Amino acid sequence: MVAGTGVSRGCGVLVHVKDNRVVKVEGDPDHPWNQGRLCSRCLSMTQYMYHPDRLKTPLKRVGRKGEGKFESISWDEAFDLIEEKMKKSGKISVLNQ
Ligand code: SF4
Repeated sequence: MVAGTGVSRGCGVLVHVKDNRVVKVEGDPDHPWNQGRLCSRCLSMTQYMYHPDRLKTPLKRVGRKGEGKFESISWDEAFDLIEEKMKKSGKISVLNQ
């Protein structure tokens, strides 16, 4: 078992690993922030990691908005697109906790 912080809010998590594979994620009852609770995002972490239908690359919309058409792109291409759109919008940074 490994202790650490969750995805976005820094909730305390306990990660159970068996044979080099995450088998369960649960809230750390001793963490002052979440006191053992986790939202569905962290609770479904094993699906993000291992579900056969999970997204494995960034996707770029190629059809009209809402049409549901996307193509796989590389991470470099995705970051370049994000940078380009941020420059166009005038935003100067991305903040992540
Ligand atoms: S439990 Fe939810 S809010 Fe907390 S770190 Fe995980 S995803 Fe974020």
